[in-house]
Amino acid sequence: MTHTRNHPRWGAIVSAVIAAVCTALVAGLLIYDAVCVRAPAVQSGTAMGTVVTAKVWGPSGDQTARAVLDRLAALDKNCLSAYEGDSDIARINQNAGSSVKVSSYTAELLSHLIQAASQTDGAFDPTVGALVQLWDIGGPDERIPSASEIDGARGSVDWRQVQVHSDSVQIRKGQSLDTGAAGKGAACDEIRELLQTQNAESAVISVGGSILLYGKNPEGDPWSVGIRDPRGESSDRLGTLELGADLCISTSGDYERYFERDGIRYCHILDPRTGCPARSGLISVTVVSSSGVISDVLSTACFVLGYERSLPVLESFDNAQAVFVTDSREVYVTPGLADHFTLAAAGYTMGASS
Ligand code: ADP
Ligand code: MG
Repeated sequence: MTHTRNHPRWGAIVSAVIAAVCTALVAGLLIYDAVCVRAPAVQSGTAMGTVVTAKVWGPSGDQTARAVLDRLAALDKNCLSAYEGDSDIARINQNAGSSVKVSSYTAELLSHLIQAASQTDGAFDPTVGALVQLWDIGGPDERIPSASEIDGARGSVDWRQVQVHSDSVQIRKGQSLDTGAAGKGAACDEIRELLQTQNAESAVISVGGSILLYGKNPEGDPWSVGIRDPRGESSDRLGTLELGADLCISTSGDYERYFERDGIRYCHILDPRTGCPARSGLISVTVVSSSGVISDVLSTACFVLGYERSLPVLESFDNAQAVFVTDSREVYVTPGLADHFTLAAAGYTMGASS
């Protein structure tokens, strides 16, 4: 005979207390879990010549965030770095005129870039290297070259002369590849695969002007991505994009690297047709796409093409949308982003989209 049998109400009270304790524990665990879900692991550093920030939610977030930075450094060293070291692209450049063995990753990336060059009618052209080095905008030798120097370098820019095979690539003698306009977006695609294999739940990875939104925002809201005010300080916002899961966002602007002479701004995005810094009436273009490399390539290409000529090019890609800012401070948004963009900065107006 037990005490509880003699006093059945005690049994009920004990059960109630146990139930209450369990409920509190479960609730506590849920709150603990929610707090954990909301706090991402964060790692920052430099890679690919730019600032990288990785925010990762999910198990082993810290380890995954560190792996993101390591992967970017390896990608630059082994594949993308154009002018230094023995990356695939550097070796192709050093051996212009001969066939060079490369990784299947590099060969595949270059064939995508050649396809993108064709689809943007050469506004994006990965063979722009000789022009980039000639102008050296933002570098120690930046200057306005002579017309004949520009003509000479421009003659080497032609994506049609790049031969890409499954494990080798050859450019023409005198040509030079530059992946500056596509590398950060390509890196976002590479990181997406890393996050998948590491079972990350959600992540926001920013590589210079390119951002990867991986999975959904754990807060339950859309992701909110600020676009920089192209004529403000680096922390000033032109406006905000509210976006769903699994997208890449790249911005190209004339404020990143430039010099001024006689009141004219010479920026680091070059028009392969003229051989000179692009002057299309735009000061910034942001492109949203499910592909990082496409968002990066298109932000550069649209900057070269200008607003009107960009629209049919954007339509020829799957689901690429853009925000354009003109030098008269008008903002144009393509229809797929119209409900997702909010203008915040004073001094800009929304243009009527064509
Ligand atoms: P950022 O590198 O500032 O993010 P972009 O993605 O627009 O900006 O890339 C600009 C870089 O791409 C330049 O610094 C240069 O190395 C290269 N580049 C410039 N013009 C072109 C072009 N028309 N096509 C391909 N690459 C270009
Ligand atoms: Mg780009």
